[in-house]
Amino acid sequence: MTAPGLLIVISGPSGTGKGTICQSLLKRRPDIFLSVSATTRSPRAGEIDGVHYHFRDRETFEEMIARDEFFEWAQVYDNYYGTPKGPVNTALAEGKDVLLEIDVQGALKIKKKAPDGIYIFVVPPSLDALRARITGRGTDSVEVINKRMNKAMEELAYLHEYDYIVINDILEEAVHRAESIIMAEQSRTGRFRIINDGRSDRPLVAAR
Ligand code: 5GP
Repeated sequence: MTAPGLLIVISGPSGTGKGTICQSLLKRRPDIFLSVSATTRSPRAGEIDGVHYHFRDRETFEEMIARDEFFEWAQVYDNYYGTPKGPVNTALAEGKDVLLEIDVQGALKIKKKAPDGIYIFVVPPSLDALRARITGRGTDSVEVINKRMNKAMEELAYLHEYDYIVINDILEEAVHRAESIIMAEQSRTGRFRIINDGRSDRPLVAAR
């Protein structure tokens, strides 16, 4: 039987750059399976259905909720976002490490169901940096920006629900730190068993 993969949750307030960290991380670690969320928000320029998100209308999303298809779902600002259960469970069962990039509400819900996951909180280096990032996206109104700033400040209070923190000041360093956390977790002794089959040319240990 294959040992189940690790569930890695990268979360934090919106505008902290967690999406960029995840994209860079996946370039370095293509072995990690990225969960593609479903959302009711409209695609931004360049976003592709099925790649960045599964873009669905409200009715379809609500049907998916009723069919219990989500690992978790949340209303973020005025839209629904959710993690489809099927692909995540399949990948974990195949022994793949799975990455979820989700908001704080979603991460807290997942933690209740999967306390063994690795919970990484991404924070901006300063309030100015957060505002610059939220504004810099250039797609949102002043009202939306202020809403996001207030929400981000509230969400910072959940830091201690997480296992690790990554301060996203210099992107390269933040990605390196996130990757190091994952590698350390993959190296936990509890994930390994000793193979004692007397064959001198074989590995001494294997994943449980
Ligand atoms: P955006 O609209 O900028 O892509 O995402 C807005 C927020 O929703 C981000 O904080 C993002 O991490 C979060 N998000 C994306 N997918 C999911 C999901 O499946 N579940 C939850 N709870 N949040 C999500």
